Amino acid sequence: MMVPYVYVALGTVMLQVADVRSHDVVISSPADAFLEQVSTVVQAHSGHLLDVAVIGGGAAGLSAGFAAADWKLRVAVFMGRCPGGQIMGSWFVDNLPGISPKPGWQLIKDYKCDAVRKGAALVYDTITDITVSSLGHLPFFVIHTEDGETWAAFTLILATGGTPKTLHVLGEERYLQVADHEKQIFTCSNCDARIAEGKQHVYVVGGGDAAVDAVKDVLTYAARCTLLVRKNAMRASPSVQARIAHDSRVTILYETEIVEMCGDGSRIYSIRLKTPNGLIERPVDVLYLAIGRTPGTDCPWMRALGICNVAGYIIVDLAQHTTRTGVYAAGDATTLAETYHQLDYAAACGKRAGIEAYVYMREQGLLCTSVQGVLSPYYHVRTSYEAEVE
Ligand SMILES: Cc1cc2nc3c(=O)[nH]c(=O)nc-3n(C[C@H](O)[C@H](O)[C@H](O)COP(=O)(O)OP(=O)(O)OC[C@H]3O[C@@H](n4cnc5c(N)ncnc54)[C@H](O)[C@@H]3O)c2cc1C
Repeated sequence: MMVPYVYVALGTVMLQVADVRSHDVVISSPADAFLEQVSTVVQAHSGHLLDVAVIGGGAAGLSAGFAAADWKLRVAVFMGRCPGGQIMGSWFVDNLPGISPKPGWQLIKDYKCDAVRKGAALVYDTITDITVSSLGHLPFFVIHTEDGETWAAFTLILATGGTPKTLHVLGEERYLQVADHEKQIFTCSNCDARIAEGKQHVYVVGGGDAAVDAVKDVLTYAARCTLLVRKNAMRASPSVQARIAHDSRVTILYETEIVEMCGDGSRIYSIRLKTPNGLIERPVDVLYLAIGRTPGTDCPWMRALGICNVAGYIIVDLAQHTTRTGVYAAGDATTLAETYHQLDYAAACGKRAGIEAYVYMREQGLLCTSVQGVLSPYYHVRTSYEAEVE
């Protein structure tokens, strides 16, 4: 069997801490029977037992890890294939109150340091399966990772985020990948509308509520904006459409879609449009795609949990509870983010999920150290971190 390791991020420094599993379990709490069963199951698997497993290493997940660890719970944040999440793709974030403007990667570095400072372990691995066991009246989660590890947790916080949809037309992929300061295609209008300031040829693509909002965002800065709608009518609700219907700065082109982005490889000069009158080419300065997002929930284990709506968003209430006991969710993967997909909102929801996980542990009588033997890897992680910062 592979030796499991826990990775702890300290700014740019990565520590690799060997697992120090121990099997000397002492059972002595009011929740004895449950814990005893859990201990047996955990040891049969691997010995990694968490109070809280946070799935997702973006703003929501790192904040959830921060909050739960602040309550002295044993927390691991699984970072997935995109550690730091979507904001890593933002060259400059200047719309967070109380936080000085900085690039996305720098912001995430701060989030990671703070989560680790509170005692959360950051695990650079991706969850591939979660099974729910029920021991007594409480659920208990067995988590499998891409690297072949098995973990167990009393609670789950799902923060798998989402991805903005793109058009998949000729040239798009190349221009999405240009250096941040040269970018002309944006997927978050309320993050990047100011790029349109002083620009002549500004386009928004989409026909739903989000596209109308994007046009409003863009017109805060741009003098004019053209909305490209694929169908012969907009999907946005009439009241939302009314927000731009009489604005002389807006041109709406129906039954029009981009078929190619043309340029010199680093800069887009024009877009080729398919219209009812044939192909036309228009000059372009900035493009905003407002064609929806894909929540990061499209995997068998997430579907098996049965907690998503038809659009794939995890259904949560205002306290981040999902429809399953012991499972919380936060950030762009949740129904709350269908309306708001902003970093500080995701972070605030993550923090609330972390606190709610603590409240659940307390109310269920699970806040005890009677399974310290099984939890010892986490004491070890904390000790290493403390030693490092001293
Ligand atoms: C280009 C761009 C610019 C933006 N600019 C701004 C801005 O200026 N201001 C602002 O407020 N907002 C901005 N946003 C929005 C903001 O980035 C998001 O609202 C925020 O990142 C959502 O955080 P999240 O944690 O919910 O999800 P995400 O950031 O999407 O993070 C999801 C995390 O889940 C992990 N994950 C997924 N599946 C698994 C799995 N199976 N196992 C383990 N981990 C998994 C991923 O690796 C990732 O770490 C921007 C978004 C984009 C795309």
